[in-house]
Amino acid sequence: MANYEFERRDVESIEAQQESKPKKLPETIEIGISACLVGEKVRYDASNKPSNFCNHELGKHVRYKAFCPEVAVGLPIPRPTIRQILDGDVIKVARPDGSGDVSDALREYGRKVAKLTSTMSGYVFCAKSPSCGMERVKMYSPEGNPLREQSVGVFAKEIMDANPLLPCEENGRLNDPVIKENFVARVFAYRKWQELVESGLSKHKLMTFHSQYKYTLMSHDLVAYKELGRLLARADLDVEQMADQYVAGFMAALKIKATRKKHANTLAHIQGYFSKHLTKEQRQELTEQIEAYRVGLSPLIAPLTLVKHYLMEHPKPYLAQQSYLNPYPDELRLRYGY
Ligand code: SF4
Repeated sequence: MANYEFERRDVESIEAQQESKPKKLPETIEIGISACLVGEKVRYDASNKPSNFCNHELGKHVRYKAFCPEVAVGLPIPRPTIRQILDGDVIKVARPDGSGDVSDALREYGRKVAKLTSTMSGYVFCAKSPSCGMERVKMYSPEGNPLREQSVGVFAKEIMDANPLLPCEENGRLNDPVIKENFVARVFAYRKWQELVESGLSKHKLMTFHSQYKYTLMSHDLVAYKELGRLLARADLDVEQMADQYVAGFMAALKIKATRKKHANTLAHIQGYFSKHLTKEQRQELTEQIEAYRVGLSPLIAPLTLVKHYLMEHPKPYLAQQSYLNPYPDELRLRYGY
């Protein structure tokens, strides 16, 4: 089961924790999560919704901080269902008849929890919940009719608004191998960024970081890679301004889907870096592997394994430090599925 801590506490004790605790990165990557996803029986019907991937795979490499906003604001388990009701331009979270409005309490709790996310490297929300849903949350009219418009869980919105860089995903979307890989890659990259900031910023460190993420960025968005490089060459920005703009562009680029075509182009660049050391047959084999991946005949792990094998034969420090080759623990097997 996952390594997690369930924050059952109310708003006041969260506030006290904020004041007493230094904001230092924890040793293990920390991810916020909806408590029902780690198995806590906190849903309206006293059930849970355990996420296999979060608990049994990702959970081996991270520590979760679990929150149930509905329980934290005092709703009982079990409890009557609540939903989002669009009343004019105001979104309320209340029972279907409009009673028991807990929107303000959920928003306030969200703002408090958001302050704890500065040392977190990601957040997994429970889909469709009026409190925790990250997108496509159903809304109803005050008369009880379902509306076409969709919304965001009111607690989740506070977390995401307060920290737009934080990698966030929903449990359901994590069943898609591409979305899952993208989320985990963003979590591990964001953590590297947090470590860089904690170690003290310098322009040299920013350049090194950019260099280590060259191929990762290329596999998501070549234009962003070049723009971020130009940003780091600007003389009119101080290091904090540069870092703020850099990380915004960096995290936005990583959100862009890395397609087979973009991965194949990136792999071809890597091949070019050390191809003069390969025999004609080895070059041919790698080219064929990259092409087989590009057209969908093999998973990404196939050409990557060959690249890593050749790198062991012909060590290249510049390539060895590339995050693209080791973005997260291999054990997660995220590059086997697409
Ligand atoms: S979705 Fe959110 S509010 Fe609902 S039970 Fe899970 S953690 Fe609690």
